[in-house]
Amino acid sequence: MARDKKLIIGNWKMNLGVHEASLYLHKLAEVVKVHRGVDVVIAPTVLAIQTLSLQVNYRQFKLAAQNFYWRDHGAFTGEVSASQLRGIVQYGLVGHSERRHVFQETDKDTRAKVQAAIRNGIRPILCIGETASEKAMNETNDALYDQLIGGLANVTSEELESVVIAYEPVWAIGTGNNAVPLDVAKAVRTIRHHLRHLYGTKAASAVQVIYGGSVTEHSAADYLSLPDIDGLLIGGASLDARAFAAIVEKAHNQEKVKR
Ligand code: PEP
Repeated sequence: MARDKKLIIGNWKMNLGVHEASLYLHKLAEVVKVHRGVDVVIAPTVLAIQTLSLQVNYRQFKLAAQNFYWRDHGAFTGEVSASQLRGIVQYGLVGHSERRHVFQETDKDTRAKVQAAIRNGIRPILCIGETASEKAMNETNDALYDQLIGGLANVTSEELESVVIAYEPVWAIGTGNNAVPLDVAKAVRTIRHHLRHLYGTKAASAVQVIYGGSVTEHSAADYLSLPDIDGLLIGGASLDARAFAAIVEKAHNQEKVKR
């Protein structure tokens, strides 16, 4: 997958029911412009995915699952599989810090979900990031390495092309305490260094790496202007249509500067 486009992903988390989500998408569609250099992805609650898939203009937005189970079928009450989401969503979040820390998902779960996504033609967005205590103890580098190894263990260099890595420091998510852009740039360089070590230069440099953690329309450009960052994962601010559209415009402006 080429890195010639910015990727802006809105994670609605457990907000908006089916009807609200549909109304909100309608509103979003009016304010978010389609730009050739920007892919805009929406991750609604699983309940709304089907409805939104019938409503969405896939030229304007792609859809992502916030979560899914790694088995394709079977006796797994309450779960939704990547094979059931196939053809409806183009992306799937994997290893989001809320999955890891609230639902105790392990690297083993993450690895299996990355595989399930790839097997079903869904691009996994593998979320990795250090906790506040790892940061305080200067362990960011190791935490990123462990989570990359943990999530990508069975991924080949050909498959790596479809994977997106989201650098999301746990302490920055939903806290209003966003990371300093230069620190993000450093972490992204570290991620690429690890990917090079695991997959070689060519495969590593083709991977889209994005940042997430309390980004707003006011801070978005500071990240998007960093050369190694290919986009943003937006939680809270994606629930404000005007703010989300403004972030998409910032991504477009950055792409224009590059061209
Ligand atoms: C997220 O959910 O991945 C996220 C980055 O949330 P927020 O923007 O609210 O910190």
